[in-house]
Amino acid sequence: MVYFDNAATTKPCPEAVAAVVKGLECFGNPSSLHGLGLAAEQEREKARSAVAAALGASPEEIVFTSCATESSNTVIFGAAASVGKRKKRIVTTSVEHPSVAACCNKLEEEGFGVIRVRPREDGSFSAEDILAAVDENTCLVTCMLVNNETGSILPAERVFAAVKKRFPRTLTHCDCVQGFMKLPVSVKKLPADFISLSAHKIHGPKGIGALYIRKGVHIPAFMIGGGQEKGFRSGTESVPLIMGFGAACEKLSGSIGQRFEKVFRLRDRLAEKCSEAEGVFINSSPEASPYIVSIAVEGLKSEPLLHFLEQKGIYVSSGSACSKGKKSSVIAEFRVPERLRDSVLRISFSEDNTEDEVDRLMDAVSEAQKTLARIR
Ligand code: PLP
Repeated sequence: MVYFDNAATTKPCPEAVAAVVKGLECFGNPSSLHGLGLAAEQEREKARSAVAAALGASPEEIVFTSCATESSNTVIFGAAASVGKRKKRIVTTSVEHPSVAACCNKLEEEGFGVIRVRPREDGSFSAEDILAAVDENTCLVTCMLVNNETGSILPAERVFAAVKKRFPRTLTHCDCVQGFMKLPVSVKKLPADFISLSAHKIHGPKGIGALYIRKGVHIPAFMIGGGQEKGFRSGTESVPLIMGFGAACEKLSGSIGQRFEKVFRLRDRLAEKCSEAEGVFINSSPEASPYIVSIAVEGLKSEPLLHFLEQKGIYVSSGSACSKGKKSSVIAEFRVPERLRDSVLRISFSEDNTEDEVDRLMDAVSEAQKTLARIR
């Protein structure tokens, strides 16, 4: 199997699997006052420290959630609920993941003004364009770090720094799902009040995410009840999944640079092969994260091509996993020419991939070009 769909999800690493199993055995409720509860609580806190350390944060700033989608919903609806009548403007981008975009759409229906800043003609984002949309009535600026369809890196750091300088009370949120553990993400450099993270994109288990909340920042809790996670996210914690998340962070945090270099070489190999091939184009910019490369095979439809590759044991995505065959508006936002938009494949790497696998992919694409029916 050649697995090139790591932006959809990653294979859990052995350390995360072992931690989940250990967590299932260490089955006490972390809120129980007896020894079994205490053991579970200690494991949960160890994992919290690992996630926090990976982000340069302190453990008290990390809340465990069920996924990044929950983290972002919590922030966006929480920010909206905590503002007065006047501050009803939200600034975001036109390429956010649906877990952010859908929340903004809903708030727009409820009367918020949502400004979706678009990339420039060359597909890149300018921090100035985003900043120009922010005013004193802006309650929240939400800008992702790495786009999940093209790997584009957005100027979140510069935007948030300038927003905080001019409008210190405006909240800043960053969806770091595709950047965490791939680029050096640290709250010491990224002035976000909130950061959404997901374990299953970093070789951890599914069903567990985290929300970073900068010390001193308050929004209402999204889930209320038993008061777990210091009252911010009620519900008995999934200690096994939390432990798996912590183990994945511990494993990956020391190797961001090394893994980046390896994946960079894979992206270079893919770019080289695409330039040699007839009718295969790279949609992602050379400055994008090398972990995600959007390509287009002119004249072939994404879905049959994806299934053709699958028959050869090669797994890729058409656009993003969330779009499930629907045409992606994000690809158009990044100025991919109209004639290529139905022909997009997303190749997303992990450090476990090899150059040989890239060659296998491109051989299979070339075979598909000779075999599959072309779009008329
Ligand atoms: N944000 C981005 C950029 C993503 O790529 C994804 C998943 O594809 C999510 C958020 C949602 O993550 P989760 O599956 O943990 O809800």
